[in-house]
Amino acid sequence: MSDQKKLTTASGIPYTQHEDTMSIGARGPLLLQDFILHEKLAHFNRERIPERVVHAKGTGAYGTFTVTNDITQYTRAKVFNTIGKQTKVFLRFSTVGGEKGSADTERDPRGFAVKFYTEDGNWDLVGNNTPIFFIKDPKKFPDFIHTQKRDPRTNTKSPTMMWDFWSLNPESLHQVMFLMSDRGTPHGYRHLNGYGSHTFSMINDNNEKMYVKFHFKTAQGIKNFTNDEAVKMKGEDPDFAQRDLVDAIDRGDFPKWNVKIQVMTIAQSKAHPFNPFDLSKVWSHKEFPLIDVGVLELNQIPANYFADVEQAAFAPAHVVDGISYSPDKMLQGRILAYNDAHRYRIGVNYEQLPVNRCPFMVNNYQRDGAMAVNGNGGSEPNYFPNSFDEVKPDMAYKETPMELDSNVADWYDRNAEGENDHYTQPGIFYREVLSGQDKKNLVSNIVGAMSGISGAKKSEIINRQLCHFFRADIGLGMAIAQGLGVTIDESIMQH
Ligand code: NDP
Repeated sequence: MSDQKKLTTASGIPYTQHEDTMSIGARGPLLLQDFILHEKLAHFNRERIPERVVHAKGTGAYGTFTVTNDITQYTRAKVFNTIGKQTKVFLRFSTVGGEKGSADTERDPRGFAVKFYTEDGNWDLVGNNTPIFFIKDPKKFPDFIHTQKRDPRTNTKSPTMMWDFWSLNPESLHQVMFLMSDRGTPHGYRHLNGYGSHTFSMINDNNEKMYVKFHFKTAQGIKNFTNDEAVKMKGEDPDFAQRDLVDAIDRGDFPKWNVKIQVMTIAQSKAHPFNPFDLSKVWSHKEFPLIDVGVLELNQIPANYFADVEQAAFAPAHVVDGISYSPDKMLQGRILAYNDAHRYRIGVNYEQLPVNRCPFMVNNYQRDGAMAVNGNGGSEPNYFPNSFDEVKPDMAYKETPMELDSNVADWYDRNAEGENDHYTQPGIFYREVLSGQDKKNLVSNIVGAMSGISGAKKSEIINRQLCHFFRADIGLGMAIAQGLGVTIDESIMQH
């Protein structure tokens, strides 16, 4: 009997009555002393941790990143230092605007967040399935996300709020066009590309620094739902993407992504015709060709969703030696915001949880706080410097100095050259990247979405947004205006 798995309380005390509460007589009121009832109900009441404000609905898997090409001329990051080297990863996919129970096939960007468990610490690349974003300054983020969530009065999603915000922020146009294309409704998580999206930097052994962008190209091929298919799937299986990933991995059909980088030298960044750190723009592949790096494979669904997926915490701040930041304003804002969100959502010791824990060396003087679950540093000193432990900063990891272009605190000038063109790349995207069918679907998806705009400002919002489409491409603007039944007068064309 002693070897048997016994039923116990959370404190390990064996007990027998799991379904019936002790009462006064078989039919009488319940006894307070049956604390197991309280333990069960009290724990149940606390099962939910705060939902992520964005990216609440998601799924994740463990896997492996394997280096296939030598990029040591760009970076000394150990994760890339040998061809064939393998590093364990955890990848979480998500939608952005929906709540935790929302449908997987909603029109939305998809989060693509990778944690690389490297010997120099955990490197988090927290990107999306699009290489760009709606805004380029983090101060706009709460306002933007409010428009993607629920209207304060009706508590429903509001196309009016969304298009009002987008039409007032022309920098959003590029991402709005990706979102409204069929890539806004991907066929699950295996058939989409991932992008680090931001500009990062790499530093090599000679302390030479260059700027990089990361691309993860799906080896399964791009596959999307049309709008109608996505809407239908919302009803048939709101957890389609979750199920598709779990089923594929469980049957041994491990999804893979080919990892690539684009590299821009510092000299090129200074000569670039537009701000290369602007998250609403891509770097042309023709000028900055993709360079092969490796393969990322997902091969294990975590045993427990809550433990590893819900508690997973990714932070763009977490870069490792040989990889660093850039002046990308959105990246700079996210460096602070993500860790702050985790401390609120999971607690100050979130990095001690198994999915977030670095499997290699961790030495610091952070102690105590809620849920210090890893021994809390034991009897080692809790201050630095001290005369007792052997922990020392390793100066080999000293950050390369960063050269600044200005010593003036200033604001963004939205009319400055290199900052004010929100239309060229969306125009190229429409004319040169989308097929004839893609274009038709884009127009129909935009018309469908804009048809939801209502209220006193309806015409104003529609006209303002139409101007942006016209400025990207006259044919696109005309097609959308026609679909919406808007008569085009000269004022829109010249706006
Ligand atoms: P390229 O022709 O070299 O690259 C175009 C890119 O578009 C390819 O990476 C392709 O990636 C991607 N693509 C193809 N179809 C779609 C689609 N329906 N929706 C979104 N992306 C698609 O051109 P450039 O680098 O000069 O860029 C031209 C335009 O392509 C940009 O203005 C931008 O809008 C778009 N784009 C550019 C990317 C970049 O990083 N340079 C990345 C993605 C899009 P694949 O087929 O492998 O998915």
